[in-house]
Amino acid sequence: MTDPCILCVAITGSVPTKAANPAVPISVSEQIESTHEAFEAGASICHAHVRNADETPSSDPDKFAALKEGLEKHCPGMIIQFSTGGRSGAGTARGGMLPLRPDMASLSVGSNNFPTRVYENPPDLVEWLSGEMRTYEVTPEIEAFDLSHILHAIKMHAAGKLHGRLYVQFVMGVKNAMPADKEVFDFYVETMKSRAPDAAWCAAGIGPAQIEVNEWAIAAGGHTRAGLEDNVRLDRDTLAPSNAALIRRAAELCEKYERPVATWQQAREILKLRPAA
Ligand SMILES: [Zn+2]
Repeated sequence: MTDPCILCVAITGSVPTKAANPAVPISVSEQIESTHEAFEAGASICHAHVRNADETPSSDPDKFAALKEGLEKHCPGMIIQFSTGGRSGAGTARGGMLPLRPDMASLSVGSNNFPTRVYENPPDLVEWLSGEMRTYEVTPEIEAFDLSHILHAIKMHAAGKLHGRLYVQFVMGVKNAMPADKEVFDFYVETMKSRAPDAAWCAAGIGPAQIEVNEWAIAAGGHTRAGLEDNVRLDRDTLAPSNAALIRRAAELCEKYERPVATWQQAREILKLRPAA
């Protein structure tokens, strides 16, 4: 197994707070510093949400613009991926940052339950977000919380509705959604191979499942995501000191399975993205 493995750092998310782990970056300057450290540890994609000063989630395009500017300056070449999922229910405000033309944006193509609410992705909003991504040449990363999301994304891509190369992220371990289940994971991988052989895939595990899913993905030849959005701990008793610490742990697994960690240049090539800004 020698294919480079792309490591994505999910720096902030919309849920974890400093009360859960003081290392969660909230302000744009904290986000830039935390991403820079993770970039040096091997992350080539930054998956980002933005927050208000009181730590509540925001969809403010000005905050996204400031983050993008800082990342381009301090992490040159790194792939910038904005979340369009952070404020479920906020409708088209979820895509208000797409005109900034980030390299990528997350896209959920179906609904499911989250720990305390329904994660709503109605068909008309999915159509609108994917249309905006085509307009601004933003490659979606499909956040698949269920098998139906994978199959629907493959269908949308075949219909020309998703910009660029199809890239699907299996998200496992969200409470009340798909658990981190190895048999299901293996089926997801087989589904991608048989039904979308030209696509690429990655996987993310939530909470204690992060390290487990990182290992499954790396061993199976896919790409993977780590970071404080998904998991604030190194183990049951230890808080992760930084996003970089979680990326380093994934990079060690790449070494174990003899997979080089993809550079940002390799990651851009694998995902067929436009050249760095
Ligand atoms: Zn996210």
